[in-house]
Amino acid sequence: MTKQELILLAIDNSAILDLMDRALRAAGYAVVIAQDIPSMERSIQDAIPSLLIVGETFSGKEGFTISSAMLERFPTLPIILFANQDTTGFAKSALKLGLSGYLYPPLKMSDIVDEVQRCLARARGLGDWLRREVKRTTASLEEKAKISETERNRLEAIIANIQDGVIVLDIHQNILMVNQAAIGIFNLSGRSVLGMSMKDTIQNADLNAMMARSGEGALKYHEVNFDDGRVYNAQYTPIPKVGGAVTMQDISYLKELDRLKSEFIHTVSHDLRSPLTAILGYTELIERTGDLNENQQLFLQRLQGSVQHVTSLVNDLLDLGPLESGFDMRREVVHIDNVLKYTLDMFDAQIKNKNIQVELKIDLELKPLRANPIRIRQMMDNLVGNAIKYTPVDGRVGISLSMQNEQLVLRVEDSGPGIPADEHNRIFEKFYRATNKPAGVEGSGLGLAIVKSIVDSHQGRVWVEPNLGGGSVFIVLLPTQE
Ligand code: ADP
Repeated sequence: MTKQELILLAIDNSAILDLMDRALRAAGYAVVIAQDIPSMERSIQDAIPSLLIVGETFSGKEGFTISSAMLERFPTLPIILFANQDTTGFAKSALKLGLSGYLYPPLKMSDIVDEVQRCLARARGLGDWLRREVKRTTASLEEKAKISETERNRLEAIIANIQDGVIVLDIHQNILMVNQAAIGIFNLSGRSVLGMSMKDTIQNADLNAMMARSGEGALKYHEVNFDDGRVYNAQYTPIPKVGGAVTMQDISYLKELDRLKSEFIHTVSHDLRSPLTAILGYTELIERTGDLNENQQLFLQRLQGSVQHVTSLVNDLLDLGPLESGFDMRREVVHIDNVLKYTLDMFDAQIKNKNIQVELKIDLELKPLRANPIRIRQMMDNLVGNAIKYTPVDGRVGISLSMQNEQLVLRVEDSGPGIPADEHNRIFEKFYRATNKPAGVEGSGLGLAIVKSIVDSHQGRVWVEPNLGGGSVFIVLLPTQE
């Protein structure tokens, strides 16, 4: 035995105590004798015996009570109970309690040693099994940890190599991760940005504007422009228990394509305008050249209507050119409530024809805009014109003008067919017409594209929302300060 195993004896009967002490020492065990219950507890705690032998009573307490208390605190400690005499009831209780062994007189030294050896062997077996189990469980946990580590590395490698820029943020918008593409986009190489606030690290007005709205939830189709002409499409996605992620795709080539397309449309429209003016002029001259019969009169009217329609389309297209290229620089003091009056005058006949009820709500304290009055009128005409055009007979149109944080808010509501939610962004694209527009309502799909370009060139925002109770609400925000 390399290290002597320690047996703790808690027995009152001095003759038995003496016998056990001698028998165990002779068998090579170390023995500690407890004087009372506190000294027994101290020995268990400090000396950590391999086995405890308790008398039927010890220090005025039942051996069963002591054993049960000890097992509760040290469940792996083997305990042998020594009974003053063998009874079935006693043996049963010892079994029930989970004691390791049971001794009773007449006792021979070999009985004591055999029982102690048997109990220790069993405890060792149990200990070995427990150790094996712990090792097995730990190994499987380590394996799992290894797998999740591998998965994490794999995920990191995927994100690092994605062509789109990816920035992962915590809930305070501090940077948790930036991939290679995002480092390139914002020229961050050589800077340690992890843990830094995104707002302080990346100074881009468009990106900051998007992040200012991140509380609203997921954000899509946000254009981020750079001074060198690059344009990115940015999205913000909230990630539960992490924060959020910003992803960015390079759309510079699409923007260039759009520019070329606009340039082409502008050139063609420009070349169309002169012949159209000539056609319209000659159709008017025909009437003056002599009397026309009824059919000729009708055909001429249709011809004029069509030419006027094409001319207004060409004019709209020509309007978009300078707006999109940012050439609209004219700025004057504009009182938008006056503009609204002129617009309503223009649509008065249509409002009366369709018996539309127009409700106006205009704040008294409206601040003037610094804007291009012609463009603001055009914006108002298009929005109010659409509301009247798409609202059925006997419908309702509501127009309100108010102030909100130095911004002018224009709301144009109608009781028309509304616009499907997935088309809310698309209707501001050139030539896009919503799928649910009422049959027979004519249009080119350019009005809202013009509105958006005008609002953009005045640093404002425009969007559409469903109107409660049916219809749509177009909302325009325009800054009033210089
Ligand atoms: P259009 O000349 O077709 O009216 P716009 O650019 O003004 O072109 O509008 C684009 C599309 O948006 C329209 O075709 C229509 O489907 C939809 N739309 C615009 N305003 C409204 C509205 N007030 N109610 C319902 N749909 C509308």
